[in-house]
Amino acid sequence: MKKIKQLLKYLTREQLSTQHRLVNIILMVGTVTLFIALIFDFLIGTFGRTFWIMSLLILCFMFSLYLANVWNKPGAAGIILSVSANYILMPVLFFAEGGKESAMPIWLSLSGLFVWLLVEGWPIYVIYLGNIALYVTLFMLEYYHPETVNRMSDRKAEFTDYIFGMSAMVLIFGIIFKFQNRIFENRRKELEEKESELTRMNLDLEKANEAKSIFLARMSHEIRTPINAIVGMNEMILREGRDENIISYANSIEAASNTLLSLINDILDSSKIESGLMKVFPEEYEIQPVINDCYMLLDSRAKGKGLKLKLEYNEKIPSILLGDQLRIRQIITNLLTNAVKYTDKGSITFDVEYVKKEDTRIDLIIRVSDTGRGISEEDIGNIFDLFSRADERQNRNIEGTGLGLAITKQLIDLMNGSISVKSEPGVGSEFTAVIPQTVISSEPIGNIRDKLGSKQKSGQNYRERFTAPDARILVVDDVLVNLQIIRLLLKNTGIVIDTAERGKKAIEMYEKEHYDLIFLDHMMPEMDGIEVFDYIKKTDRYINERTPVVVLTANAIQGADKEYMAIGFSDYLSKPVQGEELEHVIEKFLPEDKIRLAE
Ligand code: ADP
Repeated sequence: MKKIKQLLKYLTREQLSTQHRLVNIILMVGTVTLFIALIFDFLIGTFGRTFWIMSLLILCFMFSLYLANVWNKPGAAGIILSVSANYILMPVLFFAEGGKESAMPIWLSLSGLFVWLLVEGWPIYVIYLGNIALYVTLFMLEYYHPETVNRMSDRKAEFTDYIFGMSAMVLIFGIIFKFQNRIFENRRKELEEKESELTRMNLDLEKANEAKSIFLARMSHEIRTPINAIVGMNEMILREGRDENIISYANSIEAASNTLLSLINDILDSSKIESGLMKVFPEEYEIQPVINDCYMLLDSRAKGKGLKLKLEYNEKIPSILLGDQLRIRQIITNLLTNAVKYTDKGSITFDVEYVKKEDTRIDLIIRVSDTGRGISEEDIGNIFDLFSRADERQNRNIEGTGLGLAITKQLIDLMNGSISVKSEPGVGSEFTAVIPQTVISSEPIGNIRDKLGSKQKSGQNYRERFTAPDARILVVDDVLVNLQIIRLLLKNTGIVIDTAERGKKAIEMYEKEHYDLIFLDHMMPEMDGIEVFDYIKKTDRYINERTPVVVLTANAIQGADKEYMAIGFSDYLSKPVQGEELEHVIEKFLPEDKIRLAE
């Protein structure tokens, strides 16, 4: 008994496919039924006629079991079983066991139905058609030659045969249905469990991703604060240093700080790409300064490597467009930076073209080609993926994170544009970005070559644009060194500067003193900049009724400026605070009569 149980378990074990288990069950049930039928025939006296055929069939079933389980060919076993039962056993039994007047039609149907359970694919239909032909042949033979059929001994035997046939059919199909139901139920439960596990894992992933984004945003904020000190103090060295060596050290610090800042911005951008939060913010802008600044920024870097940066452009490009100019600058700078990075000799061409679309739409085409090391065919498909760097071995000595092109592509996708690349290793690469823009003014940019030039840089011969000794401003920031930097950057303007390190203190000062301008840091402990602003907006403003408030922030998230303006701030100054920008904002908001422009 124990052995039989073990065999049963083995033949229906979970590791087998459903089809395989079904074949095994049918073969087992079939073998047992045939044994019982053999005994039954013996009892009703038809034993002699069918003994050989039944025994042959039992052997055939056992062989199929062997084929299915030892040779692991359940498909072949299914076909052998179906063919032998339908075309050998059934016809013989039909003539031997009483034809249409016995339970044979039940057995014929049963054996025909098994084909659908045991066989897969097109052979089912072939066997089914064969079965129809068989039924017609058998019944026609009985009709025209009734003498070929061996009748049952009497009506009692016929009735008993029917009862047995029907009971066996119901039992066999009952067992099969139950078995299939059980498999189905088990699978459903398994799926349900997997689904809830997946949902749980998904939630965990989302949480981890969120935590990562928060961490990155916080880290970028935290890193910006010390960089603010470095950039600010360095600017003072550049302004006041007289020793050439010191100035050259300070220039290196400036370059390194800029690299660090763009790295932080890239990390922030990549986390936004991953969380699907990357956005573009279209506004009206002039294309000429964009081309100019990107060219000037990379021209000096190219010259530093002994490369020539050529500028080509279509003079008819419309001068004022609607688009996200900051992001377009980022795209161009990324492409140009890569071209300079991955080119050792020769030249780089920065080409700006356009194609007119509908009335007010154009495709802005930025093409950057170089005579650099190129990208191999196998790498070219991956360079737009996050963190992917081509030919890591060859480019090991070149700094990079593999973020630039992924961000570039994502930005271009967001603007409904496209980017493509052609490259030949050892010869050079050509990146082409197509960016749809709306035209605001179609006046052509004309010849911009004469206007090319870099913004006046702070440096040794720096001079303030104005002085304003009668003006008084309040600067609120929880980091002492930030207050110190603003004091230093403005020291020659003569502006009276009050400072507060806490929101509450700022409110007290605000209520006592008149200020011409207030700089308010966003992230502060206890009361943050927004809370301070909300408070002073609600209270009676007394003496500071018209005082503009400019938010200071290390929050580098694009579009944040719009949010600050929506809250009611007059402007937005991002850290690290650049001396030039700071002066620009002050000049914009101080009352005109308090400003004395420098000659
Ligand atoms: P990275 O920070 O590594 O420069 P990018 O995403 O900007 O990251 O570029 C991905 C990879 O594409 C680079 O590592 C480099 O192998 C390849 N690549 C990009 N631009 C060029 C180019 N102009 N010439 C050769 N290879 C380039």
